[in-house]
Amino acid sequence: MTHKALRIIPSVKSEDWREILSDLLTDPEELLNILRLDISKKPPSLSALTQFPLKVPRPFIDAMEPGNWSDPLLLQVWPSKEEEMTPSSFSTDPLQEYKFNPVAGLLHKYQARVLLTAAPHCAVHCRYCFRRHFDYQSNTPSRKDWGDTLEYIKNDQTIKEVILSGGDPLGISDRQLLWLIRELESIDHLDILRIHSRIPIVLPQRITPELITIFDQTRFDVVMVVHCNHSQEISENVKNALMTIQRSSVTLLNQSVILAGINDDTKILKELSHTLFSHGVLPYYIHLPDKVAGTAHFSVKTDKAIQIIDSLKKELPGYLVPSLVQEKPGESSKTRLV
Ligand SMILES: *Cc1c(COP(=O)(O)O)cnc(C)c1O
Ligand code: SF4
Repeated sequence: MTHKALRIIPSVKSEDWREILSDLLTDPEELLNILRLDISKKPPSLSALTQFPLKVPRPFIDAMEPGNWSDPLLLQVWPSKEEEMTPSSFSTDPLQEYKFNPVAGLLHKYQARVLLTAAPHCAVHCRYCFRRHFDYQSNTPSRKDWGDTLEYIKNDQTIKEVILSGGDPLGISDRQLLWLIRELESIDHLDILRIHSRIPIVLPQRITPELITIFDQTRFDVVMVVHCNHSQEISENVKNALMTIQRSSVTLLNQSVILAGINDDTKILKELSHTLFSHGVLPYYIHLPDKVAGTAHFSVKTDKAIQIIDSLKKELPGYLVPSLVQEKPGESSKTRLV
């Protein structure tokens, strides 16, 4: 890997990420105006907007192709009328997560690791989100409630890894993040800190030298799992952010969701793996979408998903093929389908 040291890594555009985060686009008409699309052709669903508002960071819009209703990035954020069809097998909590929620903000579902909802919000609202009905506001600990969460982790020696997850954990300030990491570091049996975030993809300006310093200085082994579904999401700024993370001590992985009309295609996933790898990211999981109300139009049949991953296996080295997984309530791990 010595040639890496010779690469000149341009820094991510220095626009302040907090400003971008406080100026998220929420108006459907404004989004379509930017993309030069006519709202009367495909009006948004008002009920979908009420249930789960539109929310998109502007750098993600910059990566969309104007004039294209089928743009794979637009489809991930557009509150379409198709959200109104909900087959009876779809529910608001298909994973029955409430059963694994012993204290506010903590899910303990699998051995040796717990998941914390460290932030009340995400920077983007992905229409396929399996937690779109999750009440983050009442499930994100305040500083005071963190006492109970930390106590729970302290009292269970089997927990080795803490996963900071959605709402997006990189949406909180460096100061808050550092406070939380310091608290976790004081728990001796923890070794690994994992961060699941879509922010490096939708708001790459968040990856600042200060953030990287936090990860480089902690005693934890840090794993960052970014969430990227399509190579078009990997803009110049995203490339720079990923390369900045890769040059730190952080292990960088990607997880995707297989989504009808967006990436349910061997060629698209092959390109995604290649593009991610050339910026230091290895594929981890590709999820079959969960049966969440409002997301039926993104569903991909299990057989079709398996076929796509089988073709990927033929065309790519093993380390560039993500595991196709599904979450089944009551299982002790995610279920690998291929
Ligand atoms: C997905 C998930 C994890 C992590 O599972 P891995 O297979 O280790 O990636 C942990 N906790 C919960 C609640 C999860 O949903
Ligand atoms: S970033 Fe993740 S948790 Fe947040 S809306 Fe998108 S899919 Fe859901």
